[in-house]
Amino acid sequence: MAKKKDEFVQEKEILLDHIQKAGLRRTDQRDLITEIFLRTEDHLTSEDLYRLVQKQDPSVGHTTVYRTLKLLTEAGLAREVRFGDNKTYYEHHYNHQHHDHMICTECGKVIEFFSADIEDLQDQMAAKFKFRPTHHSLRMWGVCAECEEQVLHASSAPSGAQPKVRVRSVTGNQ
Ligand SMILES: [Zn+2]
Ligand SMILES: [Zn+2]
Ligand SMILES: [Zn+2]
Repeated sequence: MAKKKDEFVQEKEILLDHIQKAGLRRTDQRDLITEIFLRTEDHLTSEDLYRLVQKQDPSVGHTTVYRTLKLLTEAGLAREVRFGDNKTYYEHHYNHQHHDHMICTECGKVIEFFSADIEDLQDQMAAKFKFRPTHHSLRMWGVCAECEEQVLHASSAPSGAQPKVRVRSVTGNQ
């Protein structure tokens, strides 16, 4: 596994190029933030990323993390996504296939999916309205399989008339 050093070479070149065009300099902190972002295959808020970065270098400030995420987004390496909780999440964009999201409203889990059929239907709809789509984000909110299971367990003793509120306390205690 002598792979570590040349990890994300392309991504780093793209970012460096963008940083230089923006008239900024390359810094160790920005490099670290970028590394951690690229290594984390997840949807992260700047808060989340800040916490991960803090574990490795407590001297990095939240503003630096936030600004670096903005730079990553401008450079096309990150993409902003919103899941309806008023937060901005960031995910990898470069070399990543288009996908859409399902969001569990109980535990916050995000499931990524891709359906060629749905994509086709969207294109057909757009064509029908002579609309030229540039990008889209399809999001479905609901309850994931694990949480659905919790609902079943939680409601197996009584009749099951009060699922939602009970689920939160069950998940919260785990
Ligand atoms: Zn899509
Ligand atoms: Zn869930
Ligand atoms: Zn995603």
